[in-house]
Amino acid sequence: MRTIGILGGMSAASTQIYYRELCDLTRDRLGGLHSPELLIRSLDFARIEALQMKGEWNAAGAILNDEAKALERGGADLIVLATNTMHKLASEMMEGVGIPLIHIADATADAIKFAKLSSPGLMATAFTMEQSFYVDRLVAAGLNPVLPNEEDRAETHRIIYEELCKDITTDKSEAAYVGIANRLVETGADSLILGCTEVGMLLNQSNVQVPVFDTTLIHCTAALDRAFV
Ligand code: GLU
Repeated sequence: MRTIGILGGMSAASTQIYYRELCDLTRDRLGGLHSPELLIRSLDFARIEALQMKGEWNAAGAILNDEAKALERGGADLIVLATNTMHKLASEMMEGVGIPLIHIADATADAIKFAKLSSPGLMATAFTMEQSFYVDRLVAAGLNPVLPNEEDRAETHRIIYEELCKDITTDKSEAAYVGIANRLVETGADSLILGCTEVGMLLNQSNVQVPVFDTTLIHCTAALDRAFV
């Protein structure tokens, strides 16, 4: 089994989900007392969020690059960046790194195409929904992403940073997210990407009417597929 290097803490709430999911999936696949070989580097998200808000992406990219190199030196065979948003800096992060990155958007696009769906709604941070690095990648993969309206994008983003990244879940925010998901379906979405690694804390197949693609869970499966090759 190869060692998966997780660059996480963005936020810590979702890195905990990665750890549990990777452990559950490994036990499902191998049985017995098996658990995954992992190296987890969990950053202080306050430091990263401050750079995001100031638009200091170069500084954030340099941090991710240092940490990816440290994971490689520590023995990781592949890297999982446990956040959709910071994939904006995937190429900066991987400069001079010799082990592969399991790209969260590519793994998600593959899963959607495998299910023969084509127009996924996207609920994520404003960075992920409104900048080109993620949406264009889905389009390049042959998908036709459907975005929430401006007000719904702002509310989706607010709940991620003010609540989910602090491990806070409320019925009110779940209802708000269900409403946003329903409006995406009315606008033509045939599926829904939980395009932020914390969104699965509020949405899942039981409260969404179309097939749900949770990037956190898909990313874990894709990483294990590579780790078990
Ligand atoms: N975990 C989130 C994501 O998947 C948001 C936090 C961040 O900005 O990294 O995009």
